[in-house]
Amino acid sequence: MLPSSLSKIYLDGKTFHVKRDDLVDTFLAGNKFRKLYTLLQTPNSKYNKIISYGGTQSNAMLAIAAMCKKKEWIFEYYTKRISQRVKEQNFGNLYLANTLGMEHIELEEDLYRDYVSSLNFNLNEKTFLLDQGGADSLAQKGIAILAQEIRDANLDIKAVATPSGTGTTALFLALSLPEYKVYTVALIGDSEYLKQQMQALHKIPDNLVILEVSKKYHFAKPYKEYFEIYKKLLDAGIEFDLLYAPLMWKTLLEEGLENILYIHSGGVSGNESMLERYKTKGLDL
Ligand SMILES: *Cc1c(COP(=O)(O)O)cnc(C)c1O
Repeated sequence: MLPSSLSKIYLDGKTFHVKRDDLVDTFLAGNKFRKLYTLLQTPNSKYNKIISYGGTQSNAMLAIAAMCKKKEWIFEYYTKRISQRVKEQNFGNLYLANTLGMEHIELEEDLYRDYVSSLNFNLNEKTFLLDQGGADSLAQKGIAILAQEIRDANLDIKAVATPSGTGTTALFLALSLPEYKVYTVALIGDSEYLKQQMQALHKIPDNLVILEVSKKYHFAKPYKEYFEIYKKLLDAGIEFDLLYAPLMWKTLLEEGLENILYIHSGGVSGNESMLERYKTKGLDL
C-alpha cells in the first residue's frame, strides 16, 4: 500500500508529477489517510468511540467512517440538518459513510455551534474527539511519512502543491520538508483565515507559500471554471476532486508554475454528488 505511487500529467505544455495518495484505499485515502495514520496505528482496544463534526459531504467524515469500521469503533458524527433530497441519495460521501456504520446526528442550525463546542466536556478515556476535517497535531506523524516518501522518490523537484481546507496538510508538509517549497491556496475563507487556522497548530514556516487566488469562490459550490479544469485534468488522465483540486490547479497554471509535485489528496468519491449538481447547471461530461 505504501509508498503511494507517482504519475505524470501534461497540462498546457507543462509536466507535473502527481503523488497518488488517492489510490491508497477506496475510502480511507488521500491526506485523510495520512492524517488518520496515528489513530490507525493505535490498538483497537484504546478507544471504542470517535466523535467528530462538520460538513455532510466531507471527505474527512467518510475516511473516519472507514477507519472506525476497520477498528470496530463507534463513529458519532454531528452535522447541521440536511435536506430530504440529500437524505434520499444513494450515492455520495454521506450515503457511503452511513453504509459503513456511521451514526449521523443532525443538530438544529441555531444549536450547532454551542453543541459542537460542548462535545469536549463529555468525553471519557475511551472516546476520542477529532476536530472538523481532522485538524489535529495528531496528523503530523502521518504527513511526515508522506514527506519521507517524497524525499525518497528522488525527483528532480523542489516544490510540492496541495490545496488547503483546514491547512493541516500543507502546514505539516512544509514543516516536514524544509528543503522544499510547499504551495497552497485557501479554499475555506481567505488566506488570512487560513493562516490563523494553521497558527493554531504550529508556527508557519517560511517555505510555506499561500498563493493568492485571482477570484473568490465559495467552498463546495459548483463553478464553470472548476468544471473545466476538472475535465481538462480528467482528459489528461487523472480524476481529481471537484472541491479542492480545481482552484489549486487553476492557480498553479495562472502563476505559470511548473516542476511541481502535486499531492493528490483523494476525495474523488464525493464527485458523483457534485457532478449531479453540475448537471442541473447544464454542465455535463
Ligand atoms: C480534506 C482535503 C483537503 C484539505 O486538507 P486540509 O488538511 O484540511 O487542508 C484537500 N484536498 C482534498 C481532496 C481533501 O479531501
